[in-house]
Amino acid sequence: MKQEHPDIKLDLSTFYTMCPPNFKKAKKRVYMCSICTKGEQSVNCLARLNLFEANKETKRSIEYEIDLYKDHLSIKDMQSAAYKACLDRLISNDCVVVMGFKENFKVDGGPVEIGARFYTKSQISDLGFAAIYIDSVGKKKYKYFNYMSEILSHNPLYVSDCLSDLFRDTFFGRFNRIHLWSDSRPHFRLQELLYSVFINLTNIFNKIFTLNYFTEYHKKSVVDGHFDGLLELISTFETTAAKSQTTHKDSVEVVFRIYRKNKSRDYIKRIIVKNFKSYMSFGMGDGIMDDSISTLSPNDYFLLKIKLHVRVDDRLTKMSIPQIPVSTKGPIELMGPNSQSTMDTRINMIHNIFGSSQTSFT
Ligand SMILES: [Zn+2]
Repeated sequence: MKQEHPDIKLDLSTFYTMCPPNFKKAKKRVYMCSICTKGEQSVNCLARLNLFEANKETKRSIEYEIDLYKDHLSIKDMQSAAYKACLDRLISNDCVVVMGFKENFKVDGGPVEIGARFYTKSQISDLGFAAIYIDSVGKKKYKYFNYMSEILSHNPLYVSDCLSDLFRDTFFGRFNRIHLWSDSRPHFRLQELLYSVFINLTNIFNKIFTLNYFTEYHKKSVVDGHFDGLLELISTFETTAAKSQTTHKDSVEVVFRIYRKNKSRDYIKRIIVKNFKSYMSFGMGDGIMDDSISTLSPNDYFLLKIKLHVRVDDRLTKMSIPQIPVSTKGPIELMGPNSQSTMDTRINMIHNIFGSSQTSFT
């Protein structure tokens, strides 16, 4: 319509009345495992293959890919079962902590933001932790911690700062063993996190930690499920958030905190493990131990040969652009005194050279 009538102006409600009825709102992006997607395609491809005409070599290479897909599925199933067993075996001293980043979002942002209101919202990130534990009567309970931040970089520094803060919470005082679970996206699947958990956290807190990874993109974790209902909770958070380092809004077993990086980290410290990404579970015995599936049974874990690696941290931190609330009542200050004075000087110079009429817009 804009092409046919370039001058046309529509307000938002008119725009919606003109939308065709079959126009659908964009759905939330769903992460698909690319290996499973391609694996299913390979299975279909083999089924369609005309066995009399097909080249043997082609058939063999499709079968090879399908074997890989089957291995991938069996690892996925075993690790899902291990997670379920970890929850089923929970005793009162244990806590499972599932962590995940929500995609960066605008506070109070819906699918549509109108005019000035859009610009008053700044983008934030949220690192969520779901603590799963057994209460005094043996019932499984969930408590959620959200670390919201204007820092949009989902890097291990954010994760490890929040983990250190998380376990300072008196809530975790009752647990001796903490089983950390995370997805395998790059901000968690790093040897830097091994250092944070098995050196930093282990030195600070008198607890036994394990670090476990879900296979990539398979199902929504308990934290992802929590994120779905989060935006409503955030409106409560917005009205209560103070400007302190940690702000608590403790109700319905959901805690909100603000994460501000208070000091820059000079070095990236990592524990280097050969074939790090092949292991799904890490624990601490006589040293750092690993297992290819999170059995959490000490006999299944092997001592790892590790190396410490330290390098200068030159990562840039991506920050949300601060957005100034638009006032609807009073004058809106366009610039500060220094900029005003600079502009006045410039205007005077223009007046002197061209005469005052040149600065008029009319
Ligand atoms: Zn998969």
